[in-house]
Parts: sequence; C-alpha cells; structure tokens
Amino acid sequence: MPSSSASFTPPFCPNRNCNSRTSSQPWRYKKKGFFERDIRPRRIQRYLCQHCQRNFSSQTFAVDYWLRRGDLLEAIFHRLVSCSGLRQISRETGVSHTTVRRLADRLGRHCLLFHEQNRPDKTPNEPLVLDGFRTFEHSQYWPMDINLLIGSSHFVYGFNDAELRRSGTMRPAQQVKRRILEKKFGRPDPQATQKQVEELLRRVVQPGGTVVIRSDEHQAYPRAMKRLSDRRFHHETTSSKEARTTSNPLFPVNLADMLLRHSSSNHKRETIAFSKRRQGALYRVAIWTVWRNYIKYGSENRRSAPPAVALGLIRKAMTVGEVLTERCFPDQVGISSWVLRCYWGRIATRAIERCDSHGAVYAM
Ligand SMILES: [Zn+2]
Repeated sequence: MPSSSASFTPPFCPNRNCNSRTSSQPWRYKKKGFFERDIRPRRIQRYLCQHCQRNFSSQTFAVDYWLRRGDLLEAIFHRLVSCSGLRQISRETGVSHTTVRRLADRLGRHCLLFHEQNRPDKTPNEPLVLDGFRTFEHSQYWPMDINLLIGSSHFVYGFNDAELRRSGTMRPAQQVKRRILEKKFGRPDPQATQKQVEELLRRVVQPGGTVVIRSDEHQAYPRAMKRLSDRRFHHETTSSKEARTTSNPLFPVNLADMLLRHSSSNHKRETIAFSKRRQGALYRVAIWTVWRNYIKYGSENRRSAPPAVALGLIRKAMTVGEVLTERCFPDQVGISSWVLRCYWGRIATRAIERCDSHGAVYAM
C-alpha cells in the first residue's frame, strides 16, 4: 500500500468538492503529524489541504482505507478466485463471515474501478464475443445473466447483469410459487437483456467505432445493436448447439464461462455458496475480471502472459499486491452510470426488500 512509503506524495485532494480540483493554481497541502495504528504500516502521515482545510492521510489513498483488517485483502482476493465460499475463508482467516463479505465487497469495488481505469478507452480493434453467463441470485426463482464482452485475445472488456424470469420445466407447485413471488416482488423487465447489452456495447465501443461482434442467435442482441446507430457492428452468429471446441468462434466466452464457474464458488452447480444478492455476484465478477485480464497466466501450461499484456496495456503480468497498491476514486475515473451504480452497491435484489447501499458508508 502506498502509505508504507516514506516518499509518498498525495496526488490530489481527496475531497471531491475541493476547489483545488478545478483551480488553475497548483495544489497546496502541508504535513500535519502522524497517527499510530495496530496493523502495518503502523505510523501514518497526516496532511492538511490548504484549499479546503480538510485533513487526510497517506492511508486515504490506500485500497484498505478505514479497514481494521485491510491486511487480509490480498489473501481474500486469492481465495475468491480459488473457489472458496465466504464461510470457508472466514474459518481460515479467523474473522467473521460478515467481515469477509465486507472485504470482498471492497475488493469488488476496487476491481470495478481498476478495470475501468486500465481497459482500452478506444474501440477494441479485435473481434468481440458477446454472451450471457446464466446463473441466479437469492434462489432458483430469480435467474439472471451476466453479460460478458470478451475479445479474441480473451481480454474481458466489460460485463453487466440482466434479470430473467424463471422459465423451463416447472412442477405445478413451482409454478404457483413463481406466481406468488412475482405478485409480491414484481416481474423482471422482459427487455432487460436488450437494454443491458445496449449499455455494455455503448460502454466498450466508442461513437463512430466499427467492431465485429460474435454471438449465439439470441434475438435481443441485434435489437440492442440497432439502437446504437452511431456505431457499426458486423454481427456474426453461431448456433449454441455447435461443438464448444477451440475452433468455435465463441470459444473466448465458452472458456470464460468455464473459468468463471471453475474459480467462483457462487457459480458452482448445486452449491449452497450461490450469490444471495446480484450485487455480490457482480463484485465477484469484477474481481475475476481483473484476475483474468491482468494477473492470471493466459495459459497455465505454457505460462503465457495475461491478455492485458498481449494487448499492450501493461508490460508484464501483475501480482495481486500490485493491483491493490493504489486506491481508485470513482470521480477520478470517467465511468458509465451502470458502473457507478454497481460501484455504490445500488444493484437491488428484487427478493430482498432492504438491499445494502454502500454509498453513504463509503463516500469520501
Ligand atoms: Zn482540498
């Protein structure tokens, strides 16, 4: 974390309303003593902004700001991409599972911003594969898709969520239960997939951009592309019944689906570690995305570089510690409204009436 470095220089005033952010004058601050804490680094430098008189410290710029057990972040990151459930991590680390969940949420928020800061800000110049990863939140009555947009380099450009209505074969009792639940909590928007795919494509493909999109024959995808008339899409479809081999044009998402299910305990089949909230599932996908793009070997056997190296975004594979070196601020990264809503924990789970919102708690 940057706070351990004696040479740390605060880059800007962390108060987003401070006039130093917009002033043409150089930012002025001064050192204002130290405070001690229980975990390392123990001595933390304090500062005072001379524009807004706000106190802050080197710790304000660390990913583990305000955390008592920030020392566990790195270990929990590894566990979350190694298919551990929150209670399993809690037993290993000796902290409660609610603490593990809070730390996992912190990692999720950081990874969302980290990826937005590091992904290409221009239209990708490789074909993109689009698909929905089918899972559920809360119970099997609330299925959802995690829409993924992945390059042929296997770089995950972005993802979002789409609520779905439970379908398929149901016993009469299950049909009654679905009716009762939908009456109480409302029915998911039938256009959710189209709207969310449109949001995802708008975020990744810039206005005026041209890109090849490969997908299955889902009918919502061409409708979403049609609504983005200022971008050009060359849409190539492949039947989802085709063999899922490496020569299948959809191989990047087929592999991503397998990896996501293999490394995340919440997406295992017949598990009790499934996501209770869509928000929690999205934070975990953000962590998985950063791991897949910037940290994990492209191929474990060949020990090849991760996709972000292949795209020239970073020089060499990063470690979890490097990803967690600097805090990302939502107002410092130009991000879309969906990513912001996700960052602030505002993706509500229909079946839970009071969903946690982190906005008030973690706002700086
Ligand atoms: Zn200030």
